[in-house]
Amino acid sequence: MTETTPAIEGWFTTGPEPALVGSRCATCGSTFFPRTAGFCRNPACDGEEFADAELSRRGRVWSYTDAQYQPPAPYIPASEPYEPFALAAVELPEGIVVLGQVASGYGVADLQVGREVELVVEPLYTDDSGVRTIWRWKPVNPRGEESGR
Ligand SMILES: [Zn+2]
Repeated sequence: MTETTPAIEGWFTTGPEPALVGSRCATCGSTFFPRTAGFCRNPACDGEEFADAELSRRGRVWSYTDAQYQPPAPYIPASEPYEPFALAAVELPEGIVVLGQVASGYGVADLQVGREVELVVEPLYTDDSGVRTIWRWKPVNPRGEESGR
């Protein structure tokens, strides 16, 4: 019996509409990802209390790259030897940028700065306990026409 569990505990929810889990400062309302504790990263705020907050599931590509080298933790190599994949930095409506791999089957050719992407959770690797998952960014209209061009 195997089960499907997140590769990193507590960073995202699973289910039909997965979401990243961040922290919202009780004092200034700023949202942070990954979750924080201790002190607010807003330099103008001295808040020390945070609540878990699910982040927006859609954002826009802020930057992207082909990862020719293995990224640092918490990225866990899905294959050995390392295979390059596309990475996207996505700006969420909360005003934060979240780095993630691009969804399986998509690459840099499907990306463009400003393009809308949606959070998906996909298998990253399989170990003794089952399938381990990670969040990825999936282009909403990978090869479609963006309006306003
Ligand atoms: Zn704050």
